[in-house]
Amino acid sequence: MENLFDETRMLMKKYNISANKKLGQNFLIDSEVVQGIISTADISKDDLIIEIGPGLGTLTKYLLEKSGKVICIELDERMIKILKDRFFLYDNFQIINEDVLKVDLNNLIKEEKLGNSIKNVKVVANLPYYITTPIIMKLLEEKLDIESITVMIQKEVADRLIAKPGDRLSGAITYTVSYYAEAEKGLVVPKDSFIPEPEVTSEVIKLNIRKEPAIRVKNEQLLFKVIKQAFSQRRKTLVNALASSSMFESKDEVIKLLNAIGIDEKVRGENLTLEQYGKIVEYCDKQ
Ligand code: SAM
Repeated sequence: MENLFDETRMLMKKYNISANKKLGQNFLIDSEVVQGIISTADISKDDLIIEIGPGLGTLTKYLLEKSGKVICIELDERMIKILKDRFFLYDNFQIINEDVLKVDLNNLIKEEKLGNSIKNVKVVANLPYYITTPIIMKLLEEKLDIESITVMIQKEVADRLIAKPGDRLSGAITYTVSYYAEAEKGLVVPKDSFIPEPEVTSEVIKLNIRKEPAIRVKNEQLLFKVIKQAFSQRRKTLVNALASSSMFESKDEVIKLLNAIGIDEKVRGENLTLEQYGKIVEYCDKQ
């Protein structure tokens, strides 16, 4: 693999590019990390890769070699010219100049699957850190026909996303991730693997999307509402956190509910399993 530091500096100089902090631009210059991301994503020629935020194309080059097709989604217009210049010889390269949060990914994937010999769709990205959570939530909540999401994100966020429900680091988002996916921890990446250096350490994680959600509930919206409410006031017990919402009329009503499904009334939100949240929602639905 080339010296990525020199290559990145050369591209930035050639195209007169300085990193735009507001767009979360920290360019990867560590070839071991690139190899680590590519091998974690486990790519084959049957795969369509959706790369979010390709930037100068550091990962893109290896994705193009390994996969059937790469669709890049990049917001910064300056990068589009660079990417087109770099990869015009590849017939499996496509670029969309758009905010990923505005792209209809479901439709994009449907069309690709119809028209190509693509078997699996995988998302791979060194994500812009200012919108990590909205992007991951979009990828999960839109129930896309994808097999996995391999992303580099801030370590602090990664630790929360891949915590097991009930762990010290778990939060509402931990339960949402585990509802949709099985999370795997990858490399921890130091700040000096990028130019410019970000303020925080990074980590690669892989979310293997479940064929069916981890639990069955009739009312998914209510499940996420209850979990969000349970974590809205971290120091409160679950009873107090739920009682302070409009979902319940009184503390007694919440206590009655927890007693009915065999949950200790002194627990906090982070002590519950996803299955127990499922039971709360089923109970509420029946009332
Ligand atoms: N993949 C490159 C690398 O590893 O060196 C660049 C990664 S950099 C952390 C994040 C990239 O996401 C930047 O190229 C940035 O312009 C792009 N980006 C930021 N916000 C975006 C958005 N809303 N939609 C699509 N791309 C975005």
